[in-house]
Amino acid sequence: MRIDALALRNFRNYDALNVTFAPDCNVIVGENAQGKTNLLEAIVYLSSARSPRARAEKELISFGKSECSIKANAFARNRDFLLEIALAAGRRRKILINKVPVKKGSDLSDVLGAVYFCPEDLLLIRDGAAARRKFMDDALCQLRARYAQALSDYHRAYEHKTRILRDSEEYPSLLDTLPEFDLRMAQSGAVIIYYRARFCERLKEYAGIAHRECSGGREELGVEYQTVSTISDPLAPIETIYDQLRAHQASHAAAERASRMCLSGPHKDDIAVTIGGVNARQFSSQGQTRTAALAFKLAEREIYREITSRTPLLLLDDVLSELDPRRQEYVLNRILGGQVFITCC
Ligand code: ATP
Ligand code: MG
Repeated sequence: MRIDALALRNFRNYDALNVTFAPDCNVIVGENAQGKTNLLEAIVYLSSARSPRARAEKELISFGKSECSIKANAFARNRDFLLEIALAAGRRRKILINKVPVKKGSDLSDVLGAVYFCPEDLLLIRDGAAARRKFMDDALCQLRARYAQALSDYHRAYEHKTRILRDSEEYPSLLDTLPEFDLRMAQSGAVIIYYRARFCERLKEYAGIAHRECSGGREELGVEYQTVSTISDPLAPIETIYDQLRAHQASHAAAERASRMCLSGPHKDDIAVTIGGVNARQFSSQGQTRTAALAFKLAEREIYREITSRTPLLLLDDVLSELDPRRQEYVLNRILGGQVFITCC
């Protein structure tokens, strides 16, 4: 897959931009704040309608403007695609694929896939659990439309439930609606756990290989998915996970009402990482955890390739300058084969 041409209007700091790209490696060079990261963000957005850094869609629209557009000519699955996204303040975003409107970001993911790697990702192992959940979510939302749907259902139900529990002291009758949200969270939560568990199995293998190679065979990386304590086997069928989530909810219902908080569920998931058998977050050196983070990102690309038989776009935002020569060489030796975008100052 590849992007041949990109046109931006009122996107971030771009009033109007038209660029064409090479099918293999594209190096984007510029001063600080010229818009290199913004350009990569537009490409990632075209692959999933998810921005790697914006919290709200409207952040993508240029300051002082009310709408923006991203258009690209892409080639994927042996045919040409015209991808168009239009965002407008206060309105639903519009996505068109070959002039046909589509509803979901996952329709874009059927055309393009992207692995985005920026310096903050080098903290993936040291950061809090939310960073590792985001890593799994970004990868899986592109690969599995069902996962993307479940994640969005889960978040919506979670937010409702959190609000109900929070406001229940003042309005006790709100609690009557709780069972409905518990049901939805168990349904979508089971799908999330099912896919995350499988993803972590592949991650363990691919990141393990990359870490071993990058550390000159000296270090073993351990990767283990951690989810709700009562799930006996996260690799079990979705129905089994669902039943165990329901049982968990029942046994925690009183505690949740008392604490007025949503206590457990896949929103607390994590990936436990060990290097040489010890907890990496607590004990490993900065270099070791950076190598592991690098291994995670390279593994993401391999997992994508394994599942889809296609090579996703690889976007390296300023990341090479953050790596020592040995790791730089390791990354550069592994990026051949697909379309790559590298930014540097
Ligand atoms: P660096 O080398 O420092 O990483 P960069 O080239 O990656 O720089 P970007 O992060 O792409 O720079 O940002 C370029 C500029 O875009 C910033 O100065 C930022 O303030 C501006 N910018 C961000 N969002 C918007 C927006 N919605 N409207 C207008 N400008 C924006
Ligand atoms: Mg940047």
